[in-house]
Amino acid sequence: MLRAKRVSFWMAGVVLLCGWCSNPVQGQVGQQPAAMGIPPSQALVGDTSALAREAQDWLVELVKINTTNPPGNEQAAAKYIAGILAKEGINAELLDIAPGRSAVVARLRASAVPDPAKALLLVAHMDVVGVDRSKWTEDPFGGVIKDGYLWGRGSIDDKSMVAANLAAFIALKRGHVFLNRDVIFLATTDEEQFGEASLKMLIAKYWDKFAAGYAINEGGQVVVKNGKVQYVGVQVSEKVSVNLSVTATGKGGHASVPTKDNPVVRLAAAVEKIGNYQAPVRLTSIVRRYFEGLSGVEDDDVAKWLRVIDAPDRGEHAQRVLSDMNPMWNSMMRDTIAPTMLQAGVRVNVIPSEAKAMVNVRLLPGNTITQLVGDLNKLVNDPQVKLEVLSDGGLAAPDSSMETPLYAVITQQSAKEFGGVPVLPFLSTGATDSAQLRLHNVQAYGLRPIPLMAEDQARVHGDNERLPLAGFARGVDLMTKIVAEFSVTR
Ligand SMILES: [Zn+2]
Repeated sequence: MLRAKRVSFWMAGVVLLCGWCSNPVQGQVGQQPAAMGIPPSQALVGDTSALAREAQDWLVELVKINTTNPPGNEQAAAKYIAGILAKEGINAELLDIAPGRSAVVARLRASAVPDPAKALLLVAHMDVVGVDRSKWTEDPFGGVIKDGYLWGRGSIDDKSMVAANLAAFIALKRGHVFLNRDVIFLATTDEEQFGEASLKMLIAKYWDKFAAGYAINEGGQVVVKNGKVQYVGVQVSEKVSVNLSVTATGKGGHASVPTKDNPVVRLAAAVEKIGNYQAPVRLTSIVRRYFEGLSGVEDDDVAKWLRVIDAPDRGEHAQRVLSDMNPMWNSMMRDTIAPTMLQAGVRVNVIPSEAKAMVNVRLLPGNTITQLVGDLNKLVNDPQVKLEVLSDGGLAAPDSSMETPLYAVITQQSAKEFGGVPVLPFLSTGATDSAQLRLHNVQAYGLRPIPLMAEDQARVHGDNERLPLAGFARGVDLMTKIVAEFSVTR
């Protein structure tokens, strides 16, 4: 009976359970909370499958709006989202940041006076990376549904999050729930290029529009192996990207009379040393917990090394084995250094007087570029080779805490959604907008609540990106439950 009742309430939105609390969602249409009498321990939301189908339609339309960055043109997507929210009676605001580029923000209020420290921000980006159309089997901007997948650029990254966030947000409004904190929906611009319209710029210009103490962003993953969810990774920290230039100088001249002072040769030697350098291993507390959790789900030939990664006798050997086994694990354990660009010479018969390389470094949070450059200088050991730190690097942000109520809710609800699988904190090797949020004291968590096989995960930023629709429905369900559990007063 209760169950049937809950499901029928859900048809109109989220079931709410509060008969005694205050602060209904602003703008609610004068309907009394329907589920008085259901004990607070009951689940907050029922069947979300109808909502997921709606969210799927929004997502198809979002994929059809080409927001390839550059130039982005996110304003068209922002207007589409504002239209969806308007139909729900929610006022959305476009935040203009550059010509043709606007973010969109909307808020459900818990009280007349906002308390930003408590607020929950649901953030996702609307821009996508470019495509090589000749490699795609379907139109990347056609919103094609085939074989249980939605094909298209952004179908996973990150429009699936935009749509799932929108669903969770709208569910609160439809449910006329009593919120214990403001919930803010934000769809952003320029995440992929991190340029003039990025979240950093939005924060500088509009922070008061979406200031929050907590956030859910992309950056995590629900890992599927052999057809089953293996674990959920929640991103709580990320590596810091720093670029270096390596410049070798020497004696230029005619290539017919070379000397030992050729900068191309000096540079090549330096790049060889830098590129092969293995920075020392440092296991952060997050990575330690990640590997520990992983040891419970990996096959034994991997798990046996994960279990001894810290052991005084076998630790070093285990770290080597695991580094060789998986480049991502290697990158989670140490600073990495990747030479990426080379530049020298104008003619094949002229020795240049300068040769230059560009190097991308990913630092573990807490490690400094000064220390690493010092080590590299010693290694290169050539006074005619100069390493310089470029100013376009990321800033180190504090980790998000694993002790917050939001982290606890994400952990509980994710485990529940996927049959008790482990939920592990995660250090991402790539950068996300969460660093910008963490720099503003936001406890930001990276979650992509959609179960994905490695094969589909690998299509993100590649050819034939496609989203499994059954997985998307699970993602909508999880996101809705996390947001309700965290924000609805019971
Ligand atoms: Zn993304």
